Amino acid sequence: MLPTAVSPEENMPADACEDLFLFEDEVPPLTEPQDSIPPLNTSEFIPNRRILPDIAAARLYDTWKILIPTLVDVQLEYTQRTVGKFVERPPTILSACHSQKCAQKRTTMIGLFFDGFTTLDILSCRCATAPQVLVLHGLFPTSPSQPRMAVSTELLAFYRTLFERSCDAVNALASALHTHYIRRGFRMTNAKGEFIQEPFRRSLGQAILWFDVLQVELESQLECAVQAS
Ligand SMILES: [Zn+2]
Repeated sequence: MLPTAVSPEENMPADACEDLFLFEDEVPPLTEPQDSIPPLNTSEFIPNRRILPDIAAARLYDTWKILIPTLVDVQLEYTQRTVGKFVERPPTILSACHSQKCAQKRTTMIGLFFDGFTTLDILSCRCATAPQVLVLHGLFPTSPSQPRMAVSTELLAFYRTLFERSCDAVNALASALHTHYIRRGFRMTNAKGEFIQEPFRRSLGQAILWFDVLQVELESQLECAVQAS
């Protein structure tokens, strides 16, 4: 059910490394000595640095595994609502609140679509978590917690169909999307306004992998429902 062949590179700690360009100014290099702190003993420090990505990767994997079951119902709702219809671009402020009385938390992220990318504000509340709000509006997060990007599920579903039997097409999609966006007049820059070379590869890799897990989960639930009826 869950993917087993995840290479360490593709399974990077999203919250630490993913979309780094968005807050690279806020993340000081790990080894840089601070003014008030004496320099670290390098020989003690190296083993920690080697272990850390593995722990972070394992934690990331676990967070995705917990998240996916919470998205099955909302993905089903989205699919039932949109099947056989043209999908409209979601509004830039997304919410799934039933009562309008909840305390809402706002999360800002970039949404990637076929024809460009845009900033989105996600309002989560007791009614729906931020990932559930995204999925209900046809978007999938690129990280299980505090994502900085979300990808159109139509784009992911098309990719899934196109490359169903291909093993490494993530780079092709990331590169093609980047070029397509540039031709359409969208170019991703970092906080300093500099062009980013590979802005989507890692984020798309995460979204593609876990969107696939969600679809497999969804299909198995549908299969169970058919057998039970
Ligand atoms: Zn609510």
